Amino acid sequence: MPATTPRYRGRFAPSPTGPLHFGSLIAAIGSYLQARSQRGEWLVRMEDLDPPREQPGAAATILRTLERYGFEWDGAVLYQSRRHEAYLDTLEQLRREGYSYRCNCSRKQIGEEARRCGLPPGVYPGSCRTAAIGEHQRHTIRLLAPETVIGFDDGVQGHFSQQLAREVGDFVLRRADGLFAYQLAVVVDDAFQGITEVVRGSDLLDNTPRQIALQRSLGLRTPGYLHLPVVLNARGEKLSKQTFAPALDETRPLPALWQGLAFLGQRPIPELLQGDISSFWRWAVEHWHRDLIPRKLDSPLKGAHGNPD
Ligand code: GLU
Repeated sequence: MPATTPRYRGRFAPSPTGPLHFGSLIAAIGSYLQARSQRGEWLVRMEDLDPPREQPGAAATILRTLERYGFEWDGAVLYQSRRHEAYLDTLEQLRREGYSYRCNCSRKQIGEEARRCGLPPGVYPGSCRTAAIGEHQRHTIRLLAPETVIGFDDGVQGHFSQQLAREVGDFVLRRADGLFAYQLAVVVDDAFQGITEVVRGSDLLDNTPRQIALQRSLGLRTPGYLHLPVVLNARGEKLSKQTFAPALDETRPLPALWQGLAFLGQRPIPELLQGDISSFWRWAVEHWHRDLIPRKLDSPLKGAHGNPD
């Protein structure tokens, strides 16, 4: 391998808003197998950026569940709550180089202005681009969205592109309450951890052009992206804390792992259910085929891991 090709490095980045459920397990399995099947590294990052949304003890519970499910991560877990200085430095760089600006629009003003400009609801029309808002005034920080179309080739979903200025608008990097936005933290930390490929749920597919725009503004390289189908419950909702997805059963990892592998289009053999976790993972790494992952944004799951209806 030429010296310039970085070794594969993937990651799993849960938010500690609750215990792991079958939906998060899919992202963990997919990212783990992509990394291990290429003899790469797999890192865990705790996205504990938003204390009001977090559940006390959830980070420790998530790590314990990962361990019981036989996931082995490389290096120490990175906690975003300890990375504030890096985010502040990045914001300062963006400000200095003219990529960001302060905004003090209320939600109501944004809605009215977007309507006036004929933009879809939720798209920020750039009203504060030229406003002079002092650093002591309450404000959010926004990135100037490029006018160009930003596209990328997703490893599962194919080509995806957005015209950010029209479809999203200048997006928030730091909220008015001082919390750092996910878009900022994820870009800073994917670069800091040297991630070469991001594997995660397709609910984040349409966040990726924002992350690429931010990488370009910061002169960072863009990793590969692979967005897995998300799991739907019997009501057609994405499994999540909000839809009351049950926590993974720590005492019986194999049935969930087996079902997760099957959800990802792999063909696990029934004998794996009778074996132990290390034989499960050995088989899964050896038989992992990225090309078998269904090219779908979501897929229903019947059986034990959806919601009981
Ligand atoms: N923290 C996000 C989540 O739990 C994942 C973010 C990412 O993988 O980029 O859904």
